[in-house]
Amino acid sequence: MKMQTFFEETLATLKEIGLYRHLRTLESSPTPHALLDGKRVLLFSSNNYLGLSNHPKVIEAAVQATRDYGTGGTASRLISGNLKLYTILEEKIARFKGSEAAVTFSSGYAANLGTLQALLGPGDLALIDKLNHASLIDGCRLSGARLRTYRHKDMGLLKAHLERSDSKRKTLIVTDGIFSMDGDLAPLPEMAALAEQYGAMLMVDDAHATGVWGEGGRGTVHFFKGDHENVIQMGTFSKALGSLGGFVAGSRALIDFLVNEARSLVYSTALPPSVLAASNAALTVLEGEPELLRNFWKKVNFFKEGLQEMGYDLMGSQTHILPIRIGDHPQATEFAKALFDEGLFAPAIRPPTVPKGTSRIRLTPMATHTQEDLEQALDILKRVGRKFGVIH
Ligand SMILES: *Cc1c(COP(=O)(O)O)cnc(C)c1O
Repeated sequence: MKMQTFFEETLATLKEIGLYRHLRTLESSPTPHALLDGKRVLLFSSNNYLGLSNHPKVIEAAVQATRDYGTGGTASRLISGNLKLYTILEEKIARFKGSEAAVTFSSGYAANLGTLQALLGPGDLALIDKLNHASLIDGCRLSGARLRTYRHKDMGLLKAHLERSDSKRKTLIVTDGIFSMDGDLAPLPEMAALAEQYGAMLMVDDAHATGVWGEGGRGTVHFFKGDHENVIQMGTFSKALGSLGGFVAGSRALIDFLVNEARSLVYSTALPPSVLAASNAALTVLEGEPELLRNFWKKVNFFKEGLQEMGYDLMGSQTHILPIRIGDHPQATEFAKALFDEGLFAPAIRPPTVPKGTSRIRLTPMATHTQEDLEQALDILKRVGRKFGVIH
């Protein structure tokens, strides 16, 4: 088959079934009043939860680091890319997570791929929640381990898989801490108990929890008062912390092992100085300005209650990620378009990101939304929701 034909046919099929994706252009910073595809909209789809990506101290730190060290990462960390800024950041994030040590990767995606591929090999077993983030599934696949999925948060099925596992091989249970498209929490205390009972490792992806969930934003393991040293805690600097990069926190031995074995760390260029300095500054701001978090949760709770009062089905969300259930993907696409026309941007989340028939609009308030922004967004959601018969 000619390559060009293959591309065109694939794209035509995606369009036909309503699952074609295209890139929108953001022409402003990711603040509540963003300029998207030439239109001013209320932005409800950014993970810039605390506005740290635009915080003056974070920006200043990034600018200063660029002046001091230049723009590029310039080599792998194992060659000559391991700036002192990495050491400062990793000590800080380890302290923040209550772990012995931590290591940073170029992105959360790279952290999951590198860590899972290093931890597991053919013959090992990976136990995966059906709704886990794609990067966790990809990492497990890349490792060559056997994959077994269990129904979302079904601890009975997880236990059944563990009972059948080979105790001479490695077994890893891996889960989102806060599920990225549903906004609910993994039952970590039960999972940790099962991991302990069956001698399995437990890895928690706190991409959406880092910076906002648990005391001081320390994440879900902290929230459940879990045993930090026995859990492999992964997180990102790219969401609430407003920068870029992924990290893994855990025992010193785990971290040294990853520095040696994680291919996405060994064979990729270090992060640029500006990014490391921004992550550092974001953690400092988070610890020094606790009102930022309080304000964020006040906004989230107001918005969430508003949606619930209107009768929206929030799909069991327990956190700041607020999905509203629409159902079929063509209707979700139409719904998102109607919101956009009214001046609110929150995209439709469709398969394969979420299971068929559960397409949704995923709303994420930010600390920087004003009361007026939130009320205006609720007004729009009321009008559009009624028009589509999603609420009454
Ligand atoms: C966003 C996300 C990632 C990937 O992190 P990036 O820093 O964006 O590469 C991994 N896991 C989960 C659950 C996420 O939501």
